[in-house]
Amino acid sequence: MTTLIDRFQRPIEYVRLSVTDQCDLRCHYCMPRGFKDFSEPEEWLSFDEIERVIAAFGRLGVRRVRLTGGEPLVRKHLPDLAGRLSRLPGIEDLSLSTNATRLTKHAQALREAGVSRINVSLDTLKPERFKAITGGKLEKVIDGLMAAKAAGFGPIKINMVAMRGVNEDEIEDMVRFCIAHDFTLRFIETMPMGETGREASGQYLDLQTVKARLARRFELIPGMMPGGGPARYVQVAGTNLRIGFITPISQHFCETCNRVRLSVEGTLYLCLGQEDKLELRPLLRAGIDDTGLEQALRRGIDLKPEKHEFREQPTKVVRFMSMTGG
Ligand code: SAM
Ligand code: SF4
Repeated sequence: MTTLIDRFQRPIEYVRLSVTDQCDLRCHYCMPRGFKDFSEPEEWLSFDEIERVIAAFGRLGVRRVRLTGGEPLVRKHLPDLAGRLSRLPGIEDLSLSTNATRLTKHAQALREAGVSRINVSLDTLKPERFKAITGGKLEKVIDGLMAAKAAGFGPIKINMVAMRGVNEDEIEDMVRFCIAHDFTLRFIETMPMGETGREASGQYLDLQTVKARLARRFELIPGMMPGGGPARYVQVAGTNLRIGFITPISQHFCETCNRVRLSVEGTLYLCLGQEDKLELRPLLRAGIDDTGLEQALRRGIDLKPEKHEFREQPTKVVRFMSMTGG
């Protein structure tokens, strides 16, 4: 049981760990095309520093860690880091969010390193459209997904940002694709993170309407799925498919938020939609001891705000999703 409880009585037991702010794709809602203003290597937490912070979280009761970014597989030797984190006392679940472009090469090593679950971003099954949304090649992602399946990962979750006028016509196709491959499917609403996210908000699609539309085509059985995340799940009758709806805008879930985010630069972000943060890197590099580090993490948790204000103040968050660790 976690001993990290915030001011609103929410137990914090989950850390999303961004291991890089770089990416080999440029999804238009996440990062601007041509964007290169990344952090410098000397600003990145080293694997030793990351391990110290996650070990401290583990001692305080955090049980789950997700590797994310940017694209986490752009960071060299990621399976080595995964192995170090999965062996830490207290850390029971190590997962990965990836765009899958490099999974063909790394899936097996990640599995052996103790990564238990993988989420893959995939907004379209059409190569031309994939190129338009991300700047990359769909084929690589499909190959990566199949490599993850072959390596024994399951259930693999597909994250699809559902966008009006961009990919809303593929919602049923994605359902069929996930049934065929035994993937779990999650739809996500666009969030106004940074300039790119705000521009994409013009394509915002209320997932309540998507759910209603799916209910006309498929028999949806309301249900729960373990994971402790924000998705609300239904099952498609007669299949193994679970569909999750992540609705930060149409139905926010802040009252059960159980997570914090650590950026590659060592900034602890307390909320995706607020600027509250605590800088850990200066403390680590000044030689803070383990007790001091645990106290600092508790101070950080005390800063966690009650809720995001994406609706009320959509221009508030200036950083992109890839900087925070989406
Ligand atoms: N590169 C990895 C990936 O794409 O899965 C991990 C990092 S990515 C920032 C994590 C998730 O954030 C992805 O599922 C992506 O679709 C989502 N995301 C990025 N920008 C977003 C935005 N403005 N609104 C909603 N979701 C966004
Ligand atoms: Fe890269 Fe993921 Fe952002 Fe797409 S959503 S640009 S894959 S970090």
